[in-house]
Amino acid sequence: MQVLEHEPTNTKAQYRLAKVLSLRNEFEEAEKLLRQVLEVENTPAMRRELALVQRELKRIEQQQRQQFGGMFDRLATEQGGLYQEQDIKKRLEDERQSRMRKCTICDIEVEDVQYARHMIKAHSSK
Ligand SMILES: [Zn+2]
Repeated sequence: MQVLEHEPTNTKAQYRLAKVLSLRNEFEEAEKLLRQVLEVENTPAMRRELALVQRELKRIEQQQRQQFGGMFDRLATEQGGLYQEQDIKKRLEDERQSRMRKCTICDIEVEDVQYARHMIKAHSSK
């Protein structure tokens, strides 16, 4: 018997959840989901969704840079280079990760402070 890898229902649910997440500015989670969707359903519409989410992620990263008041640029000139910048990015990412917890239902990572809201918004609809 052939195993169906294509699971339209699951994909649809993931896509819907990704839309909800991006509406709530949770773009990293949305991106993660859309990538999963794309593995099954690589359509122009899905690629467009992913591109939109990635554009938002980029915008947020730029905002973060501004918030950190030139820390990137300063260190980059002091120590010379991309490595430092990646190092800071990694530290920021680690710090962010420490505030994340994994949803027990949909298995995506949600920021700690938004976890309760996620459970209600994403999983309470019948
Ligand atoms: Zn969830």
